[in-house]
Amino acid sequence: MTAPARSARFLIVGPQGSGKGTQGVLVAEAFGVPQVSTGDIFRANISGGTELGKRVQSIIEAGDLVPDELTSELVRDRLAQADAAEGFLLDGYPRNRGQVGDLEDFLAGRGESLDAVIELDVPREESIARISQRAIEQGRTDDTEDVIANRLAIYERETAPILDVYRAQGIVVRIDGVGSLAEVTARIFEALAVRGLAPAHPGRGAA
Ligand code: AMP
Repeated sequence: MTAPARSARFLIVGPQGSGKGTQGVLVAEAFGVPQVSTGDIFRANISGGTELGKRVQSIIEAGDLVPDELTSELVRDRLAQADAAEGFLLDGYPRNRGQVGDLEDFLAGRGESLDAVIELDVPREESIARISQRAIEQGRTDDTEDVIANRLAIYERETAPILDVYRAQGIVVRIDGVGSLAEVTARIFEALAVRGLAPAHPGRGAA
């Protein structure tokens, strides 16, 4: 039996439609840390009509990236909250090399670093099929065909390369993201446990 992880600072990376949002919530719940999704924060600001929401709305609707400075500041503020002191699960940030640098600087300033980067590996066609399905089910206005193509292109060009940085640090846990939700969840917890990262109080996510 693996001892519970001392800290749980995770990042989950995968193309849109890889299931990273859903899997991220399960991992965060099991480890008792907050899930911090920049996409969710931006969307909440847009629906709440805040100043931030107004600034980012057109960028998000086009599937482009919100400027690094704004995004990194938002994440720093969020991670400075008390509930993220012992750990967190980042979903959707960092998304390019600039943001990787911003995050490293911030964590280094606190004497922290990421424990694992969970890479959800899903082929392009599978991602597109899942996003299109979700657009129908959830009526997401940022999920039109052009926008989906733009977001996947940005993922491949800017986000996938950040994995090289983390691979060099030896912290990437690559997971085959094709399968049922439960199958993929099980693979994630198994792979984390192999690295000595087991939840102290496994919740339903680790079942
Ligand atoms: P997501 O839900 O993670 O797919 O994010 C939805 C949208 O929010 C993205 O297509 C971007 O427009 C924006 N966004 C989310 N996270 C970031 C980030 N780290 N940097 C820049 N833009 C982001």
